[in-house]
This record gives sequence, C-alpha cells and structure tokens, in this order.
Amino acid sequence: MTNREVADTLVRIADALEILGESPFRANAYRNGARKVEQMETAVSVLHAENRLTSVPGIGSGLAEAIGQMVTTGRSDTLEQLLATVPPGLMDLISVPGLGPKRARTLYQTLGISTIGQLEEAVRSDRLAAVPGFGEKTAQSIGQRLATLERWGSRLLLADAWPRAEALAEQIRKEPGVTRVEVAGSVRRFQDSVGNINLLVETNDPAGVLCKFPAASDVDGFKEIRMNDGSVLRLSFAEPSSFGTSWVTSTGSPAHLARLCQIAGSPELPACDTEEALYAQLSLPWIPPELREDRGEIEAALAGRLPDPLSAELIRGELHMHSRYSDGSATIEEMAKACIERGYEYMAVTDHSIGLGVANGLSIERLREQAGEVRRLNAELAPFVILHGNEVNIRADGSLDYPDEVLAELDWVIASVHGAFGKSRDEQTSRILSAIANPYVNLIAHPTGRILGRRDGYDLNLDIIIDQAAHTGTSLEINCGPDRLDLDDTSVRKAAEADVTICINADAHHPDHLPWVALGTSVARRGWVGPNQVLNTGSLDAVREFVSAKRRNAGAR
Ligand SMILES: [Zn+2]
Ligand SMILES: [Zn+2]
Repeated sequence: MTNREVADTLVRIADALEILGESPFRANAYRNGARKVEQMETAVSVLHAENRLTSVPGIGSGLAEAIGQMVTTGRSDTLEQLLATVPPGLMDLISVPGLGPKRARTLYQTLGISTIGQLEEAVRSDRLAAVPGFGEKTAQSIGQRLATLERWGSRLLLADAWPRAEALAEQIRKEPGVTRVEVAGSVRRFQDSVGNINLLVETNDPAGVLCKFPAASDVDGFKEIRMNDGSVLRLSFAEPSSFGTSWVTSTGSPAHLARLCQIAGSPELPACDTEEALYAQLSLPWIPPELREDRGEIEAALAGRLPDPLSAELIRGELHMHSRYSDGSATIEEMAKACIERGYEYMAVTDHSIGLGVANGLSIERLREQAGEVRRLNAELAPFVILHGNEVNIRADGSLDYPDEVLAELDWVIASVHGAFGKSRDEQTSRILSAIANPYVNLIAHPTGRILGRRDGYDLNLDIIIDQAAHTGTSLEINCGPDRLDLDDTSVRKAAEADVTICINADAHHPDHLPWVALGTSVARRGWVGPNQVLNTGSLDAVREFVSAKRRNAGAR
C-alpha cells in the first residue's frame, strides 16, 4: 500500500468509528494518523520495515501496528471488523457532501436511514428538517447536493475517462484482426466530464472484439457496453476506406455533425479514409476535435481564423501551488525540483493564508519565515526562480486575510473564496469584485467554486467579474484540479474575448499534480484561448510586469 492508500484506509477507520459512536479520541487518533502519513516524505512501508513508525509524533503503538498490517498484507483487520458492524450502506452515505459520519449516525438512529435512496425519500417527504441538528437550511442543502449527485449519475471526470479510454484502446489493439483503434467521442473533444467512453475500431472481426466484454446492446449505431465499474463504453467499427468519416461521426458533437451534413447537402457524410480528406471535400480545413461544438468553428475555419493551438508544452511555469507550509504534501524544494524537471522556468509558491485554519493557513510570521526559505532556494536553484506568493482567502465580507502592506511584500498574490458559498448573487459578486479591486491581487483562483459531480458554482455575475478583471489587469484562472476545471470552457472563452489574461494552474498540492495542467490547456482550447492570452506561457519578466503594471496603475507601490 502507498502512503495515500494507507491514509485513505485510516480515514475510513475513523469514519466507521464515528458512525458507530465510538470514543471521539480514537477516531481523532486515526484521522491525525492519516494526516501524518499523507505528509510523510518517506514511504510508510520503509518506516515500518525499520521499526521507526512510533518515532513519528502522533503515531502510537496501536496505530503503528494497524499500519504495519496494511503495508505488509494490503488489508486491515481493524477496518474489516468495523465494517462488519456498520449497517450496510452507511459508509456510502457519508460520501454525500455535507453529511459526515456524525450526521449519518444521527440519521440512522432517528429515521433508520442507511442508503442514499432512503435519504432521498426523507428529503422528498420533508422529514429531514425535524431531525435534531439538521434544520430547514441543512435539509435543503443536502437535497440540492443529492440532486447534483443524481444528475451526475455514471459520468466520469475527464481526468479518469482519458487514461481509461487510452488503456481500453491499447487492450483492443492487441486483439487478433484489429488493425487500428482510436479514441473518439467527448473524451477526444476533451469535455470536462463525459457520459461514456467512445472508441473507433478497425477490424475484420468485430464479434471477436465484442466477446471480450460484457454483453453489448445497440444504441444509435454504437455497440454500448456497461462495464463492471458502472462506466459506459461505446464501440463503433470502421472500414479503412471510410475510417476518417467514421472518426468524425463517432467524435461528434451532434451539433457539429449537423452543420457538416448541412454543408454536404446530405444526411450522410461522404466516405473518406482520413478526417482531413473529409473536411477538404467540404472545403474546410481540418478542425481540432475540441472545437467541434458548433460554436462558430465552421465560420472561423472558412475564414481561416481558427485559434492558434495551445498545448501543455507551452506552459513555462506554475503559478498556484501549495507546500507543506499549508496543506501541500511536499516541501518547496521538492515542488521546485519537480517544476525544473518539467522544463519550467519559474513557479510561485502560494500557500493558504491564516483564515483557512483547516488548511493550516499561514500567519504573517510564518509567511515571512517562508520568504526567507524562498530566498535561500532561489540562490541555490538559479536560473530557476521561485516567486513568493500566497493564496489569500477572501473573507465573507470581501476583505482579504492580510493587510495591503503584507501583500506588498509578495511577488504574486492569488485571491480566492473557500467558504460562505451560500451568499446571494449580489453579495458573492461584490465579494469577489472587492478582491479584484485590490492593487496587489493578481489572480482570482477557481472563480466559480464548482466541484464537478458535487457542487455547482456559487451564484455569480460572471460578466461583471470578467469586465472588472480586464479593466484592472487581474487574471482569471483555469484551475486544473480534475474535479474543478474552473473556469469552464464557455466562461473562459467569454473572459478571453473580453481581453482578460488567463492563468492555467495545476493548484498542485504534490509534484504528481503538476501534469494536470494538460487538463487545463484542453479546457482553454475548448474555450478558444490562444497561447498569447495565457500569462504562464510567457516569460518570468512578463509575469513580473503583469504584477507591476497593476500596482502602478493603481498608484500603489
Ligand atoms: Zn483554493
Ligand atoms: Zn490552491
């Protein structure tokens, strides 16, 4: 088991203990242990092998023994024994956002609820609000979250669907008679979440491929297969002579295909061996899949005005990341070395500010202490440059966590919302506008706060925010967290059209998160954002000038 898996198991143990109403001290011990394991530099398996687990503060002999079993056998007796006593369904129930183990326990005790279905029924019949500790407001927000979960259904995040599609394609390529397999559908168009995985297969033996999967049904000309994990695979089969046309039709979108058929003057597109040949027959240049949404790409293609392609390789630095100073799990040095390895020229370390206690936000003293470490590392790692920044919390009233004179000491300032999501549209909008108005704020991170499959963005007048961001020289983010991708494609397009500078950031909490930037560049391409509209495709000098310009224009230092 990796540290991550051990930490997850420890959290599950803590959840189960809380559901069962066991001593809160025991549950907390497991939760703290999970946090320790997550932040460790060394693999827990190594510490266990060297008998050093108990030397970690917060890990006693009981916890060390439980972890030892996990890393040696891959299982946990403690968890299994607990799961045998927890009513079935309750462990799933706590995955509903806003419903921790304590509330799940209360629901079970008062209403006998142990499944998501029963919870939905209780929301519908208005029984939730009367439960002690719930009330009208909580009941309402749980109802909204359930609706979001339901809408989400068996959808997959792009970050999960993409590698899965590649792996399935690779698996099918090995089948006898298969000469070519390509990813198609919404995965190929890099939609942020997808309902199914589409693959296009060239083979002389479709039945031979299909028999390797659970039974397929015919849907809209696809063979649709419900995989064991609940995801949906759609296979289509193509001949070499018409592969290009099949690839275009299996990639979609339906709206784009309808336009192509209109141009062709026929419901069937002409059979071509390559995509380029098909588009050429329609007097069009090849159109990148992420633009195929009928959002003006046909007109732009005809006029030779398709956006310049943006790729993750063009990103020259990461401007939003966390270290162990707050809730990251690596040191600044480790993050910097990972950036250097990716070929980056600069990065900004942007830990959380003091108000975000849950994420171990920095006091002004710790922020200044961190500045010292950044200076030392810069001397060591030159020509690579670490900008000292911060992700400053925007408080409920729109004020920032640090006073201006502290912000003025920083090289780069991000402002973002991490709580009080339930404010009205006007309040939420002016809250963000006041951050934008601050001369030291350079970026609004994850501007809408959405979490895919769990939470819609907060109610916001994005048009005004875009307008003021452009006006003040404040950039807006495409946050590349796989469940954020915030701004989304249509919003980022609006922003770029209004001349807002875009930043594409992994919001990395670990070196392994840096590659997420590829998800963000795909959102940017879907949003028609060209490389010259993105701040971190530029040089370090350009980033510094971006910061200075806003301060200058505001008459600040
Ligand atoms: Zn954040
Ligand atoms: Zn962050």
